[in-house]
Amino acid sequence: MNRERLYRTEAIILKRSDFGEADRLVTFFTPQRGKLRAVAKGARKPSSRKSGHLELFSHTRLLLARGRNLDIITQAETMEPFLPLREDLLRTTYAYYAAELVDRFVGDEDENRPVFDLLLAAFGWLGRAGDMALVARFFELRLLALVGYQPQLFHCVNCQAQIEPVINFFHPGEGGVLCPRCGEGRSEAASLSLNALKVLRFLQTRDYDTIRLLRIRPALHAELETIMLSYITYILERNLKSVDFLHHLRRQMQAAVEG
Ligand SMILES: [Zn+2]
Repeated sequence: MNRERLYRTEAIILKRSDFGEADRLVTFFTPQRGKLRAVAKGARKPSSRKSGHLELFSHTRLLLARGRNLDIITQAETMEPFLPLREDLLRTTYAYYAAELVDRFVGDEDENRPVFDLLLAAFGWLGRAGDMALVARFFELRLLALVGYQPQLFHCVNCQAQIEPVINFFHPGEGGVLCPRCGEGRSEAASLSLNALKVLRFLQTRDYDTIRLLRIRPALHAELETIMLSYITYILERNLKSVDFLHHLRRQMQAAVEG
C-alpha cells in the first residue's frame, strides 16, 4: 500500500509558483511520466531543506506521494543545478524560454523521453554557449520535430517543387517554405533570405557539435528569430483555439445528453 502511494522520478524543474501560506507549486518534466505538477510543502520557509533542491531549471531526483488532488514532493535531491543559468540574466532568459516552450508544447502526463533529453542537453549548452540565440534556434527546430511540427524547408508546401537557392517565402500557417511563385502576394508569407534558409536547414539536419561552430551576423539572427517566432506563435495559438473548441464541443454534447 505504502509502496504504491510513493514514487520516485528524475525531473527538470520548469516552473514554480507560490501556493498557500508557505508552499510551492512546482511544474516539472520527467522522462517516463512527461509533465507533472506537485506541491512542495513548506518550501518557502527559509529553514526548508527541500527548497534548495527545487531551483528552477535544475535536474533533480524526486520522491513523491500521491495526494487526493495534487501529489506532494516529499524528498528532492539535486543531480545537476545548472548554476550558470541562474547567474547570468541573459542565460536565465533563454533557459526560461526553453522551459516555457516545453511546458506549452507537451501536455500533462504526456510521456516524451526525447524532449526530456533535449531540454537537459539544451540547459547544458545554454550554460556554456557564446551564441545563445543559435542554441535557441537549434532547440526550437529539434523540439518542433519531436512534437510533430517540423517545418518543411526543402519543398514548397503548396506546389511541392524543390526549393531553389533564391529568395523564397515562409508561411507559418502552411508550415514551411513557399517557392517564389506560390509565395508572392500571400499576405501571411514573409520573405526568407537564402542565408536564413541555409541556416535553418543546417540546424534541422546536423547535430549540436556541428552547428555550434556557426558564426551568424546580428541581422541574420534577427531574421531567423522573426521567422521561428512567427511559426511557434502560430502553432501555439492554433492549439489553444483547438483546446477551447474541444471544451466548447464537450459542453454542448453534455448539455445535449442531459437535456
Ligand atoms: Zn510552390
